[in-house]
Amino acid sequence: MAVDLHLHSTCSDGSDTPAEIVAGAVAVGLSGIALTDHDTLQGIHEAAALAKSSGLRFVGGTELSVTWNDQTMHMLVYFLDPGGGPLQDRLDELRDSRHQRNLEIAEKLRAQGFDMTIEEVEAEAGGGVVGRPHFAGVMIQKGYVENVPEAFERYLGAGRPAYTPRRRLSAKQAISLSRASDAVPVIAHPHTLNLSAEEFSSGFRELVDCGLGGIEAYYGEYNPAMRARIAEICNELGIVATGGSDYHGKYKPHLSIGTGTGDLAVPDVALEQLEQRR
Ligand code: AMP
Ligand code: FE
Ligand code: FE
Ligand code: ZN
Repeated sequence: MAVDLHLHSTCSDGSDTPAEIVAGAVAVGLSGIALTDHDTLQGIHEAAALAKSSGLRFVGGTELSVTWNDQTMHMLVYFLDPGGGPLQDRLDELRDSRHQRNLEIAEKLRAQGFDMTIEEVEAEAGGGVVGRPHFAGVMIQKGYVENVPEAFERYLGAGRPAYTPRRRLSAKQAISLSRASDAVPVIAHPHTLNLSAEEFSSGFRELVDCGLGGIEAYYGEYNPAMRARIAEICNELGIVATGGSDYHGKYKPHLSIGTGTGDLAVPDVALEQLEQRR
């Protein structure tokens, strides 16, 4: 049986509600899922309840943007309880900084000559955490770009005219806050990091020593050789090879729940191994 441990809903930059995510996972026959919206635990209670009544194993989590060696790393945090706690208490701050950044992005897009407001972007987000894909959504609606990748390549991505950084935890802070919250931190899609082959295999050791629980090996957009290589590195480091599709609904239309670009099947043992890491 397969699981999908990386899914985004309308609580952040996915376009399916938590209920639709659970239904989608049941429809493709998964045995378990994790909801990992950016900087929020808003959908966890609802998704957990629906998953339970569908006989689906469920893990609550979030995805954070952190800094590591001057790079942006995404970190998935699993088993994060939606009540209070050391990491939970920092999420408000991260969302505030995201909001300030979003105001700046809106200004920069207007300076580029686009007729769009933060209110329109917030409406696109429908009450969830607002992210750059929502800016892309409004730009598509208004005919300024054809699709989400074009919006990032031309305006929203790092180094492009509307790019604006925001406050981030360091990777080590995120790991220790996760552990203090009885949660398990995992590096998401490690190939977004620009690392030499040498750094790629040994560089994560310092994070393992801080409490890193796993690395996302079975990722929707990776080919079988990349998945096998990352799983091997996890094995060498003594941490869990996790995986998921990074499904975002209409914002990443090439990805599907459970199967990613088509050939993904995250072994369900990943979920059990993660549980043992708590
Ligand atoms: P934010 O969290 O608001 O900074 O936006 C980051 C999110 O934008 C990521 O989690 C992805 O969902 C999405 N994203 C980042 N880069 C790209 C890209 N080049 N093409 C499409 N989506 C992207
Ligand atoms: Fe996202
Ligand atoms: Fe990510
Ligand atoms: Zn993600």
